[in-house]
Amino acid sequence: MATTKNDWIERAAAQQPATGLYIDGGFRSARSGETFPTVSPRDGSITAHVAAAGDQDVDDAVRSAHRTFESGVWSRTDRRHRQTVLTRLSDLILENLEELALLESTDAGHPISDALAVDVPSCARTFRWYAEALDKVYDDVAPTPRNALAVISREALGVIGAVVPWNYPLIITAWKVAPALAAGNSVVLKPSEQTSLTALRLAELATEAGVPDGVFNVVPGLGHVAGAALGRHDLVDKITFTGSPEVGRYFQRYASESNGKQVALELGGKSPQVVLHDVGDIAACASAVAWGIFYNAGQTCHGGSRLLVDERVHDELIEEVIKVGRSLQLGDPLDPATQIGAIIDDRQLESILGYYAVAEGEGIAVASGGTQVHPAGVEHGYYLEPTVLDRVNNAGRIGQEEIFGPVLAVSTFRGAAEGIRMANDTKYGLAASVWTQDITKAHTAARELRAGTVWVNTFDVADIITPFGGFKESGFGRDRSLHALDAYSALKTTWINLGDAALDD
Ligand code: NAD
Repeated sequence: MATTKNDWIERAAAQQPATGLYIDGGFRSARSGETFPTVSPRDGSITAHVAAAGDQDVDDAVRSAHRTFESGVWSRTDRRHRQTVLTRLSDLILENLEELALLESTDAGHPISDALAVDVPSCARTFRWYAEALDKVYDDVAPTPRNALAVISREALGVIGAVVPWNYPLIITAWKVAPALAAGNSVVLKPSEQTSLTALRLAELATEAGVPDGVFNVVPGLGHVAGAALGRHDLVDKITFTGSPEVGRYFQRYASESNGKQVALELGGKSPQVVLHDVGDIAACASAVAWGIFYNAGQTCHGGSRLLVDERVHDELIEEVIKVGRSLQLGDPLDPATQIGAIIDDRQLESILGYYAVAEGEGIAVASGGTQVHPAGVEHGYYLEPTVLDRVNNAGRIGQEEIFGPVLAVSTFRGAAEGIRMANDTKYGLAASVWTQDITKAHTAARELRAGTVWVNTFDVADIITPFGGFKESGFGRDRSLHALDAYSALKTTWINLGDAALDD
C-alpha cells in the first residue's frame, strides 16, 4: 500500500488507464477515431486521451444493451445468479481499492484519503447492498374477489441510459448502475467528460465478475454529442440523470422528441443549514456546517451552501465555523494528509471566482478565505480557500444561485419561523438541516422544510439505506434505498381467473 505523498505521485505517473469505449464486453475506439483529453484537477496536466463516442457509437452501445436485454442473458436469469455476480463485483471493487482510488483522486481531484475511505468503499457497498436485497424483496398479491388471484410483480424496464456528473463519479455511478443491473436491466453509462476513467475500469471489473457482454456499456464523450444521442435514442427505456438543472431539462426535451422514455433527474441545490438560537453545542454545529460545505471543495450537490443563523448566536457560530475552515488541510489530493482537494477544472474555478465579484457587487463581506491558492509542489491545478461570505441577502444572487465551490453564504434571521421561511425561499429543495435543542421545534421545522432530505442536529450523514433526491427544481426520482430498485422496474399485474371451479377431481 502506498503511504506517502511521493508513493502516490509515483504511482499516479505510472498509471495507464483504459481509455476506449466499453461496448459489448470490450474496449474499442470511437468510429470517428476522435478522442478528448481528460485533465487532472490536481495539476492541470492531461492524464489521458479518452475515446469520444459519437452518435453511431452510442447507437452501437444501445443496440448491444437492447440485444442482450431481449436475449434474457441477464434480464431473465435467476435473481440469485445476479446476486452472486454483483456481490463478486463488489468484492472486485475492494480488491482493486488502491487502483480505483488513485484513478478517482487524479481524475476528480478528491483527496486520496477520501477516495480510499469513502468513494471506493461506498461504491462497493452499493453493489453489495442491491445484490443482497435481491432475495429479500417480495412482490405483492392484490386483494381480489375470491374468484381471482392477482399478482403484482416487478420486471426489468429494458435499457437504462445513465448520465452522470464529475463530482462523485464512482459513488453516483454506483447509485444508478447497481440497482439498474440488480433489477435485470441492461445499462449504457455516459460518464462526465471530466471523469471517465473509473467508470471504464468499473465496466471491466463487471465483466470479470460475470456480467454478460453488452449488459453494461460505457460511452465516454461530450455531453451535447454522446449524452444527447443517448437521451434521444428510441431503444432507451429510461434515462437516469444527475447533473445541472439546465442539462436535466434537455433530457426531458430529448425524451419528448423521441420515444417518450422515462426520465429521472437529480439536479442542483442551495441547501440551507438553519441554526436556531437554542442550538446547544455550537462547536459540533460549527464543525458540521464547515464540513457540510467545504468537503470535496464544495462540489457537492447537497452541500450546505447557505447558513441561516439566528442573529442571537451568529457571532459565536461564525467565529467557530471560520476556525474549522482554516484548520482544514487544503492541498495536493495525492498527499494523504490533504482534507480539501482541487476544483474540477479551470472553467469551474473561473465560475466560482466570478461569484466573488458578484458578492463584492452585492456589498457582501468576505469573512474568511476568498483567494485562489497553489499548494506546495503543484504549480498548476485549481485550488480555492474555504470561504465564508457573511451578511448575505438571501434573496440576492449569492443567496440563491448554486456556486458549487467552497463558499458558505451566511444570512441571519430572528426566530424559527423566519429561519424556515428563508430556508424555503429558493427554487431548490435537495437537502436542509435544522439545529435546535427543542424537540418540538425540531419536528415542526423538519416538516416545514421543503427538501428531499432534512437533517436534525447533524448534516450529510447518509447511507445507501435511505433515498436521495430533490423537491422542486432539484429534480425528481430517487437514488439509493429499495425505492431505487423500484425506479428501475416496471410493475406487472397478472390477473388469474379462478372461476368457481370446485376441486372435485
Ligand atoms: P452537467 O449537467 O454539465 O453534466 C452532467 C452530465 O450531462 C455529464 O455527463 C455531461 O457530459 C452531460 N451533458 C452535458 N451537456 C449535455 C447535453 N447538452 N446533452 C446531454 N448530456 C449533456 O453537470 P456537471 O457540471 O457535470 O455537474 C455539476 C452539476 O450537477 C451541479 O449543478 C450539481 O448540483 C449537480 N449535481 C446534482 C446531484 C444530485 O444528486 N442532485 C449530484 C451531483 C451533482
